Amino acid sequence: MRDLDGRIFLSATDLMRFMGCPHATSLDLAHMRGTGPEPGDNTEDAALLQKQGDAHEAEHLSQLKEAERSIVEIERGKLGENAEATRAALAAGPDVVFQGAFLSGSWGGWSDFLERVDTPSALGAFSYEVADTKLKRRAHPKHVLQLVLYSDLLTEIQGAAPEFAHVELGDGTRATLRLADYSAYARMARDRLEAFVADPQPTRPMPCADCGLCRWAEHCDSVWRAEDSLFNVASISRGQVKKLEAAGVHTLEVLSTLNHPIRSMAENTRQRLVTQARLQQARKTGEPDYELRAPQPSKGFDLLPEPQPGDLFYDIEGDPHYEGGLEYLHGIWFDGQFQTFWAHDHDAEAQALSDLLAFFRARIAAYPTARIYHYAPYEITALKRLTTKYGIGEAWSRFKQSRGDPQCSDGLSSRPQG
Ligand code: SF4
Repeated sequence: MRDLDGRIFLSATDLMRFMGCPHATSLDLAHMRGTGPEPGDNTEDAALLQKQGDAHEAEHLSQLKEAERSIVEIERGKLGENAEATRAALAAGPDVVFQGAFLSGSWGGWSDFLERVDTPSALGAFSYEVADTKLKRRAHPKHVLQLVLYSDLLTEIQGAAPEFAHVELGDGTRATLRLADYSAYARMARDRLEAFVADPQPTRPMPCADCGLCRWAEHCDSVWRAEDSLFNVASISRGQVKKLEAAGVHTLEVLSTLNHPIRSMAENTRQRLVTQARLQQARKTGEPDYELRAPQPSKGFDLLPEPQPGDLFYDIEGDPHYEGGLEYLHGIWFDGQFQTFWAHDHDAEAQALSDLLAFFRARIAAYPTARIYHYAPYEITALKRLTTKYGIGEAWSRFKQSRGDPQCSDGLSSRPQG
């Protein structure tokens, strides 16, 4: 977002940020006008992602060069000048334009790659489609906003709308999107942002998936602390905050002593939130504490089977941003000790999988009634992916899944949450 002589220019990043959290746009606008707080520095995570994103883009560029595609690189400088250079580059018809820039109306920015296709356009017997590099393994709805924006700006230059746009994903695969399927949504999003910038509506910080990498995270956190916000209550949802505020409960402290039902809120939910708030209120001046919930039949711990000799407790950690993704740690708690299987690259990942399955095999052979407990479905998903990827342990894993043994129905037992 930039203000050039009183005119605001918007980018794909502004659009993606607005659709994730309009409050971030409010803060961006206030900061640009010199009336808001200062943004924080990039978090270490954001800096790491940026670095890995740059490396992923450079890798794709070098692959195109190795394939001897003709490439025009636009050296990043002033947006207006880069946009002019991009127009000239597109007219010349190379296979690829790297870092092509666009500027039209209120919108502009730099795409990653513009790829020549054989569809005729005002440029000649060819035209271009947008391809962006992203670290994720799947295209995200936000990518659509960016791809449609650049494709619309590209349409103005080549006089023909591209049919497709592409995402070079972090696992080396390519996702291709038919733009007609997404254009209406993306243009509606742009209209909404333009209307918001022209006439900003009041917003407030509300935790969302974007907070982790947001440059306003410190500021919003300070607001929630200063307000003793209900959003500080662990595991509270937006819907629950809305119901509580409608009932006049606005702070964690007030919630901690709430002793009457809340409209449209289940009583056990209210009690859980009050207990959580009470513990956090006490924590403000005291030591961390906990309260056990009253046991309920067929709920929580009551869902757990009887312990068996040799039971294992398994967890897995992965880095989705590593090139191709990496499950870098398998951890197992058993017999009062912790066993790790580390992997810092793909060769080690295959070895760690092999060692892990050998460990499981030996353990289950020694303790046939033992279970392998894990927290969520991710462990199963990741192990299936790894066994397929490396061709290791597929037969054993299929055998475990087909046993139908109630004590080891799929080789792993989900630990109930609650
Ligand atoms: S930290 Fe979260 S609530 Fe605050 S502006 Fe960023 S995304 Fe929005």
